[in-house]
Amino acid sequence: MWPRWCGMQAGRLLSKNPLHDIFLIESAKFFRDRRFVYINFQALGCRLNEAELETWANQFMQLGHQVTTDAGEADVVVFNSCAVTAQADRKSRQHIGRLQRRNPRARLVVTGCHASLNAEAVKAYLGVDLVVDNQQKEGLVDQALQLLGGEDEIAASESAALTGSLNPLLLRGRHRGFIKIQDGCRYRCTYCIVTIARGEERSRSETEILAEINRLHRQGVQEIALTGVHVGGYGSDIDSGLYRLLNEILEHSEIPRIRLASVEPWDLPPEFFRLFDNPRLMPHMHLPIQSGCDTVLRRMARRCKTAEFERLVDKARTAIPRFNVTTDLIAGFPGETEREWRQSMDFVARTGFGHIHIFPFSARAGTKAARLPGQVDGATKKARSREMHALAVELKHRELLQHIGARVEVLWEQQVNSDAGQWIGYTPHYHKILSLNSDIQASSISEVDVDAISEDGARLVNHASLARIALADIGRYVG
Ligand code: SF4
Repeated sequence: MWPRWCGMQAGRLLSKNPLHDIFLIESAKFFRDRRFVYINFQALGCRLNEAELETWANQFMQLGHQVTTDAGEADVVVFNSCAVTAQADRKSRQHIGRLQRRNPRARLVVTGCHASLNAEAVKAYLGVDLVVDNQQKEGLVDQALQLLGGEDEIAASESAALTGSLNPLLLRGRHRGFIKIQDGCRYRCTYCIVTIARGEERSRSETEILAEINRLHRQGVQEIALTGVHVGGYGSDIDSGLYRLLNEILEHSEIPRIRLASVEPWDLPPEFFRLFDNPRLMPHMHLPIQSGCDTVLRRMARRCKTAEFERLVDKARTAIPRFNVTTDLIAGFPGETEREWRQSMDFVARTGFGHIHIFPFSARAGTKAARLPGQVDGATKKARSREMHALAVELKHRELLQHIGARVEVLWEQQVNSDAGQWIGYTPHYHKILSLNSDIQASSISEVDVDAISEDGARLVNHASLARIALADIGRYVG
């Protein structure tokens, strides 16, 4: 895309920001001398965007470059943008402006759905040096290095061996590796812009996925989550499937904890939940239902109706007791009558969910739903979202209550209060749990008792080391 930096860049950029050009010329000389660059990664949106950042970070580090969590000191900033809602589009635009102001010297590489759907506009944004659309993401690292005058100019330094063993994920303070297994989707849900931005389904090979998982495990990562646009469609283009892939991972990897990120509630084989007999596969699935009313689901062109969804959830909960199902739900879809909304509320209350992401309908230009009659007014969307949120809080409490008294294995992720030795982690059912035990290490797994639910109803609590809390604090926890 970019032949030698100086020529092409200068020619194109003089028109937009002379100061920026001087930065580029000077810094190119600087990079050649330093022989590696600092790269900062940013993403908005889905787990797939996160997974892609991790892959690129690893590729850059394998080439001897350094990951920095500070955009201000980076030579290159890679931003993986989002366009799932109008708000996400706006946030992506604003974030690009913020990154440019934060570090005008850096090369700004923008990719992701916002960039893919608005490529020409994004190219014209101040400070953007390179736009890589979703279909070209595989080659992002090469293109970014071309920006700096060509990979062979900034060849792998002797520090490659050093940086190669470090995991960018842990460097960025994360403890769960998102593994991209596929991209794109063959379906056309009427509200969905992702299927337009990401294109047709394409799967990564099982070998590549396994190699990435085993590398992450060697580098100290204890948990991975498989992600994609249509995870259930994995392998449709390579004569494989999600069931087979999970079996391969369980057989040919030793990573202790394997999760599934969001999975559309169809295209799953009947024996699918047998896989969860293996305790390394975490008993939680995020199955987006989007509406609890069949007439709305029809207008959404969703492939799963309420009865099928209910059967799927029953199967999961029969196969694995206390299996946690979380979901996404759109409030105020075009044409949604009060009667349809009541049906949705009743269905959600009847099914029960550990967590619900609630989205007021957002019309996306280019989607069928944006042109449907009966667009619901903002106030009604807000009121329905609030009502569903109140129900979601109740259902979450009911879900968490099931775990009181259990002994669970927790992956500890974050110390929230070093004085009190307060740590947050996740249980296998994907519930946040708080413990006061200063012996905990980040990314370690240990067993604790579940003794309570936090007052805000959002987390489980391990009492074991409550004695160490100053008496004054006791009131915050309800047993
Ligand atoms: S299945 Fe998911 S990704 Fe595919 S069109 Fe529907 S909502 Fe979009």
